[in-house]
Amino acid sequence: MSAADHRIGRVRVLGGAQNGKYPAGNSLWVEGTERAAVIDPSLSLLERREELGGRADMVLLSHAHEDHTAGLGLFANAPVHVHHQDLVGLSGIDGLMQIYGYGGELAERTRAWVLEQFAQVPRPDAVGFEDGACFELGGSTVRVFHAPGHTRGHCVFRIEPEGVLFLGDIELSSFGPYYGDAWSDLADFERSIELIRGLDANVWVSFHHVGVIEHRAVFLERLERFAARITEREQAMLAFLAEPRTLPEMIAHRFVYPAHAKLPFIDAVERRTLEQHLARLQQQGRISELEQGRYVLV
Ligand SMILES: [Zn+2]
Repeated sequence: MSAADHRIGRVRVLGGAQNGKYPAGNSLWVEGTERAAVIDPSLSLLERREELGGRADMVLLSHAHEDHTAGLGLFANAPVHVHHQDLVGLSGIDGLMQIYGYGGELAERTRAWVLEQFAQVPRPDAVGFEDGACFELGGSTVRVFHAPGHTRGHCVFRIEPEGVLFLGDIELSSFGPYYGDAWSDLADFERSIELIRGLDANVWVSFHHVGVIEHRAVFLERLERFAARITEREQAMLAFLAEPRTLPEMIAHRFVYPAHAKLPFIDAVERRTLEQHLARLQQQGRISELEQGRYVLV
């Protein structure tokens, strides 16, 4: 069951199944006087084909991940816009694997998993935009803020005049920031958290879980908790490095996913996440690398 829609002026939050829990998500519909835009068409929109299919004049994407593009098939005639650094993800499933940074057998398994879960509709005709781009819909403007880290091209959108800030996958969940792709970057993610903290808005919408937030104090509290997950992961790594450990030992221990989680790409995400933290901790002189690829607390 999809959650009920939520209206804010010309903006409609199209609530996803299970409150937008992955693989679903919360999309936005912005109905201007001249044009309508859909933002991040989720898997849940496929159940609303009759109501929404073909009715958007443009599709805007916060980034190219599979769960944000799952409903693209409903809008085959509408131009698709995404930040130019994520365009490759729209070119097809191989482009998506490039964003993940997977090759060989892992790419095979992930490809099969994505194709089974999602309706993948490649859009090699997608058009790239830049930071600061504005989409005028008539009485409504969607303004782009480049907020990389989750992916290189990840953006948040502010819909004006309502002041609705669509956060994409800076999603404020208890899972915490995800920066586990080849296309991800921890330091960029931290800068993007600071960027959105400073943006004027009246309402905040995240693609997953949290949904609609209507008070700045609540948004700031959620953002604080979300950002703290980065520090908590790092603290857990440092505690584990009280004894010398290799990267494979750390990957097996898991610092991102819970022990019970079963997805084909978990080890790859743990590795990419760990590599970024280890490089930073080494640079800060808080850990050192011993012989045979073992790391230890200084
Ligand atoms: Zn994503």
